[in-house]
Amino acid sequence: MRQDLAELTILRCSNCGSDLNGLSTDVIFYCSECGRCWISDERLSPVSIEFVRLGGSGSILLPFWKVDASVNIQNRISRRKSSVSSVGRLREFTGSEKGLTESDSGSRKVRFIFPAFSTSLVLSTGVRMHRENFLPEKVEHGKRFCVIGGSVGRDDAALLARAVAVGVEVNRTDYLASVDLEIEVHSAGIYAIGCMPEKNVFKINGSEIGILCAAISDSDEILKQNQDFSG
Ligand SMILES: [Zn+2]
Repeated sequence: MRQDLAELTILRCSNCGSDLNGLSTDVIFYCSECGRCWISDERLSPVSIEFVRLGGSGSILLPFWKVDASVNIQNRISRRKSSVSSVGRLREFTGSEKGLTESDSGSRKVRFIFPAFSTSLVLSTGVRMHRENFLPEKVEHGKRFCVIGGSVGRDDAALLARAVAVGVEVNRTDYLASVDLEIEVHSAGIYAIGCMPEKNVFKINGSEIGILCAAISDSDEILKQNQDFSG
């Protein structure tokens, strides 16, 4: 069968020739033999990888995109006042036109971090991660890691970074009416972030942020891949 043939295609690390293991939907592969990270689109191209919040034994390293970008806000309009809405009552904005204010035009440099693996919570996780400082750790030379493969390619990462930027604006404490922003991506790389599998979530080490297993389509395979490596 054609599908079986496709699954037999073996990717090899362009640096050391080792097999790159992953799921059929993966496009990001980490070579645990030589420590290089690759993205496969038409060919394998290298991508930088750094390790963050490794944690102790039991931690699983999941791939996240780290996108450094300039966010250019052309026009941001918020409402000064908003009435509390309750069930059965129409939500009213007093002086809807008069209440609009423009603010925050201009450009700023922002780092966005969000899952590079398949999860339905990529945007909300990215918005929450925006508030925290994730810094790479120095790792012992020659230490081998198992990093789970990722399925979000470089082009998708740029689109998602823009969506997270909008989410960050929406999530601010004023009443956002509209925002018009563009982002310019300066660099994109992978952060392998230590996460602890708990009962229903993968909890990011040193953070309150968890990603529900139910929102990760490959959560069973992720646990299995990690066990195969450590076992
Ligand atoms: Zn290699």
